[in-house]
Amino acid sequence: MKALVKSKAERGLWIEDIPTPAIGINDVLVRVRYTGICGTDVHIYEWDEWARKTIPVPMAIGHEFVGEIVEVGSNVNDFHPGDIVSGEGHVVCGRCRNCLAGRRHLCAFTQGVGVNRPGAYAEFIALPMTNIWRHDPKIDQEVAAIFDPFGNAVHTALAFPVLGEDVLITGAGPIGIMAAAIARHAGARYVLITDVNPSRLALAEKIGVTLAVNPRETSLADVQKKLGMNEGFDIGLEMSGNAGAFRDMLGNMCHGGKIAILGIPSPSEVPIDMNKVIFNQLTIRGIYGREMYETWYKMSVMLESGLDIKHVITHRYNWRDWEKGFDAMRSGNSGKVVLDWRDAG
Ligand code: NAD
Ligand code: ZN
Repeated sequence: MKALVKSKAERGLWIEDIPTPAIGINDVLVRVRYTGICGTDVHIYEWDEWARKTIPVPMAIGHEFVGEIVEVGSNVNDFHPGDIVSGEGHVVCGRCRNCLAGRRHLCAFTQGVGVNRPGAYAEFIALPMTNIWRHDPKIDQEVAAIFDPFGNAVHTALAFPVLGEDVLITGAGPIGIMAAAIARHAGARYVLITDVNPSRLALAEKIGVTLAVNPRETSLADVQKKLGMNEGFDIGLEMSGNAGAFRDMLGNMCHGGKIAILGIPSPSEVPIDMNKVIFNQLTIRGIYGREMYETWYKMSVMLESGLDIKHVITHRYNWRDWEKGFDAMRSGNSGKVVLDWRDAG
């Protein structure tokens, strides 16, 4: 089968013919239709320090996808050929304390699809049945292709109740923008999003926020004044990975405010003012991946009840033009970039 492979331990990716994956008795084989490009895939392309110590070579990469089941193992009774599905990108051990307790998103031995095991930039992907989410046949399949990052946004935006609250989102990347749409859908009062990139602020405005602000031009204190707020934001969603944005957020939360952090800072050590955390009694929670499968359930029903995230997809290419997709990602001016694999093979 055709696949986009990290075949050499150097910068780049290569389209290659590799064997179609074999399935075990508990697995399903999916013919891939659309894939999304994640920032992680760009890191793997660039072969940065993280990628060099994480990614086995050679391996097909990619973890955001939708496709059609073409074969199921002998032990699989709940999924059938023809089902339209996406895959949860974290394969958990099933045996650690958290897995046994049903808290699979807290598994201590998570393996990443397209990171630690073969991925979805291919004609076919094999996954355990416990990693499969079946979509309603009516779902928009490009949106289905980005359920993985959409799930990051849902997991973070719903980490704390947002009904009636004022929400600050730092970072208007695709995930921050989806989180803004989710917070509004879930009943937040004000949803304020920040970014230093004007094209991303424009995309956020198109999708719908109370205010989209460049923190280099407008301070969060001024934003609060403008909105008639005087005690700070109730909920913070850190989605930039920028240390300064996080520190700025800490200084603009209300007493008892709650922060969920998805953005991954590099370097990961970030000095913060602990007095703000302690005396303002802030709650800070890290978010990784999606809850299996409460987040997936929430994604599906919010789309059914009118949440619209389609406009976050700004670029579409055939899989053969994958390099254009990666260029769009690198430009910093894209939302989600989707590749169409339907004519592969
Ligand atoms: P992205 O890189 O496309 O978006 C980040 C945005 O933050 C960019 O638009 C950037 O301009 C903006 N930014 C930079 N400095 C800023 C500042 N000072 N103030 C405000 N905004 C600033 O990333 P994405 O795909 O939307 O993902 C968001 C973050 O979540 C990334 O850090 C990513 O690595 C991380 N992530 C974490 C998980 C997880 O499971 N924890 C999963 C997926 C992504
Ligand atoms: Zn586990």
